[in-house]
Amino acid sequence: MTWRASILTLYPEMFPGPLGVSLAGRALTAGTWTCETTQIREFGIGKHRAVDDTPSGGGPGMVMRADVLAAAIDAASPQGDRRPRLVMTPRGRPLTQARVRELSAGPGVVVLCGRFEGMDERIMAARDLEEVSIGDYVLSGGEMGALVLLDACVRLLPGVMGAVASGHEESFEGGLLEYPQYTRPQVFEDVEIPAVLTSGDHGAVERWRAERALADTRERRPDLAARDGSPERGS
Ligand code: SAM
Repeated sequence: MTWRASILTLYPEMFPGPLGVSLAGRALTAGTWTCETTQIREFGIGKHRAVDDTPSGGGPGMVMRADVLAAAIDAASPQGDRRPRLVMTPRGRPLTQARVRELSAGPGVVVLCGRFEGMDERIMAARDLEEVSIGDYVLSGGEMGALVLLDACVRLLPGVMGAVASGHEESFEGGLLEYPQYTRPQVFEDVEIPAVLTSGDHGAVERWRAERALADTRERRPDLAARDGSPERGS
């Protein structure tokens, strides 16, 4: 079944963008997923197709209008569409690998991309939008966030990564960062590959990787290590 992504944006030319190459691009060509865009401005008000207005209560910038966004969402995702509707916003819940896995296992996503100072809050409940953030920093628009989200989902679709990996040992799967990776040359600027990795002892390699994943997570991401269950893996 084809995984369908519908993106609502003022900049449809940004899609598929970087997702048109490499693994995601090949999967797009193969029909594993589709990427449709809706130009929000087509649903704008008046001769100038206005999509925004001044913030209620004052302040700088402009806010995207709820009525315009509702019309665009209803066109892109009519009643009966089973896909979750997401909206990119720094006010949202941070995107996690667990949520990415759920989304990639579903029928696809509808993603609303904000611009300006953001969107009228009333659209969130009116169209049951899931607010998603890609990190604690502010982008100039939701499009880059949507591309990040799509890339994370598409690489998990069946067949996209091929035999390379199911992704089960990657960072965040199981609540830990991945162990560090090495490849030839054996010595790089006087630093050798850890001997265990070239020992041929698969059990020792597994143990070393589990220990490093746990130690690196504790050191670099104590927030991840502190989450329920995480410290158990490999300990
Ligand atoms: N005034 C807003 C605030 O402070 O929360 C920021 C608006 S930002 C300039 C414009 C749009 O970029 C947002 O509506 C959102 O769609 C997108 N955006 C910015 N940062 C984001 C982030 N960290 N995650 C997801 N989307 C983001």
